[in-house]
Amino acid sequence: MAVKVVRRRELTFWEKLYVPQILSGLRITFAHFFRNLFLHTAHLAGRLRNLPAAATIQFPEELRPLMSRFRSRHRLTHRDDHTPRCVGCMLCETVCPAKCITIVPGEHPDPNVEKYPVRFDIDLGVCVYCGYCVEVCPEDAIRMDTGILDLCAYSRQAMRLDIHELMDPGLRKPVTQCTLNFPHKCALAGGEMKGSWEAPRPSGKVSVTD
Ligand code: SF4
Ligand code: SF4
Repeated sequence: MAVKVVRRRELTFWEKLYVPQILSGLRITFAHFFRNLFLHTAHLAGRLRNLPAAATIQFPEELRPLMSRFRSRHRLTHRDDHTPRCVGCMLCETVCPAKCITIVPGEHPDPNVEKYPVRFDIDLGVCVYCGYCVEVCPEDAIRMDTGILDLCAYSRQAMRLDIHELMDPGLRKPVTQCTLNFPHKCALAGGEMKGSWEAPRPSGKVSVTD
């Protein structure tokens, strides 16, 4: 196969000086600046409305509307009695390509509900936002529709959501109180069941306390 050698073009004298190129770039920048300044001023005066000016979104005070299919921070949905819809089937944990979901299921006292999540953690620092967990869920128990985009944190630990933050997306760490309506009593509410990353993962069968 013939190889075509492409030689790099030699810079001209003026290009090697760099200053003309910098001035050329500044000319374009200032042209945009003064054009937008003039047009925005004219729009304020009710003139030249048919000529659009560049718009700047003042993030984070001003947010763009999100597409309905946009995948933002996760949440767990709940039933009418505010218990999680999740039945602890582990499908989302199994399908997750980043292996960032950890679920500990417990036996539900209601015979019509097989299980419920004693613990449900998602490590957002590892999540790749593929949405597989949402698609695979048979109970519509997990969604990525909170519209929350500010996912930055000062530590990796703060990127790990536990069940409290997933059930109430408005919560921020440190979570000190559990107001969830579970069959078990959470450690944050004086019970024995652990619902957070700080707690060691229970081994073997989970015993549910009142
Ligand atoms: S969005 Fe993808 S990577 Fe993130 S938790 Fe769900 S399945 Fe895992
Ligand atoms: S969120 Fe859905 S897929 Fe994941 S364990 Fe709960 S019921 Fe199963």
